[in-house]
Amino acid sequence: MRVYNVLHRRKEEFEPITPNTVKMYVCGMTTNGLVHLGHARQAITFDMIYKYLKLKGYDVLYASNYTDIDDRLINQAKEQNISPLTLADERIKLINQTWKNLDVLEPDFRPRVTQCIPQIIDFITGLIEKGFAYKTPDGDVYFDVKKYSGYGALSNRKIDELIDSVRIENAENKHDNLDFALWKHTEPSEFGFQSPWGQGRPGWHIECSTMIKTYLGDEIDIHGGGKDLIFPHHENEIAQSYCENGCDLAKYWLHNGLITINGQKMSKSLGNFMLVDDVLKNYDSEVIRFAILVNHYTSTQDLGEQALSQAEKSLYYFYNCLSSIDETIQTNDDLVNKFYESMDDDFNSSKVLADLFVAFGDYSKTKNEKIAGAILGCVPYLQKVLGLLKHKPAKFIENVKQKYLTKLNLSTQYIENMINKRSTLKKEKNYQLADAIRDELLQKGIMLKDSKTGTYWDIKQLY
Ligand SMILES: [Zn+2]
Repeated sequence: MRVYNVLHRRKEEFEPITPNTVKMYVCGMTTNGLVHLGHARQAITFDMIYKYLKLKGYDVLYASNYTDIDDRLINQAKEQNISPLTLADERIKLINQTWKNLDVLEPDFRPRVTQCIPQIIDFITGLIEKGFAYKTPDGDVYFDVKKYSGYGALSNRKIDELIDSVRIENAENKHDNLDFALWKHTEPSEFGFQSPWGQGRPGWHIECSTMIKTYLGDEIDIHGGGKDLIFPHHENEIAQSYCENGCDLAKYWLHNGLITINGQKMSKSLGNFMLVDDVLKNYDSEVIRFAILVNHYTSTQDLGEQALSQAEKSLYYFYNCLSSIDETIQTNDDLVNKFYESMDDDFNSSKVLADLFVAFGDYSKTKNEKIAGAILGCVPYLQKVLGLLKHKPAKFIENVKQKYLTKLNLSTQYIENMINKRSTLKKEKNYQLADAIRDELLQKGIMLKDSKTGTYWDIKQLY
């Protein structure tokens, strides 16, 4: 199996530190909002990787955190007049439900920052003692970036270049602009935790380094996250962990690409911020998974309305083909072998689905039993790893049809009446009027297919 290791900017053979065991950590959500499509892409990407590693027989330990305290969350809680921890609890319940709805498996560990404060304090204390961090008179603690010579390796930049790109935060007491906060003091009236440096809260970066050490150990195999986290977040995690533990934090760094919505960056100000719970009112969860997994996880991809409706059409096509295959035929491994080949090549789900498209196309044309057997043989793997084709085909097809009928403002009853009328006209050899009915339905978005067993209707837009 080969994976693209961002640290070395190349595909490498995957060899875990301890044979057959994979320790994986992925930066989780900050609970100041609900799950949007960007979060979904990351979660579904690493869910696929988690499930595939398990399928390959690895003993996987997967941890992903919740940052359950930050400035925005504290302000939101103030507005609602509740404690930030209560608000975080409520959010996490909703977020977990969304993951469930998206068929995203719960990681083995789901640590929260507010539950790891003693470990974080220990970690920071260790860094100060070793001379890699310093306390300011205000009660903040900073990591001294210049003390770590490897800084910039992940983002492939030199320290001097990086200095220009960092935000200059209240730099008065920092030795250097690149130095980042491990601990930030808070006023007595504000939310905070007691520490050897006074009341305060941990910085964001230290949280991940500490949780990895606590739940998985000093060295892990895979560290994941979105590309936007490479700098400074992951760069800072690497620096802290190396200085505290004396070894590399992670052997392989995997980053998923970012998403756009209808060609634009997703942002609240543009009003194109798409929450998964809202998308799920309109689309089956498999449609979201398909829209994401049809692209390679490292690519930038659009997840706007067009991508979602295209994904729905593709799945509709898959389910239609599947429903025409006799479930009792002999299965074979032709597609399963291709599935492993593609997934072993840096989790190329895009290739898996492309191969499936071809197989469904060939089967539709030829009705070849061997191809049908290959498709049926592969379905359990798609279900297990990609979370696709888990529905009963007839049910999925019916749901999509009904959704379109509502949009077209038509009913099944009306269409069936028209079909009956047309059959009668045809029997009476009144072909002109029969054709007129067919054209009328087509204009309304319904197409008819005549076969030996009768006339069937379908939604024109879905083809
Ligand atoms: Zn992180």
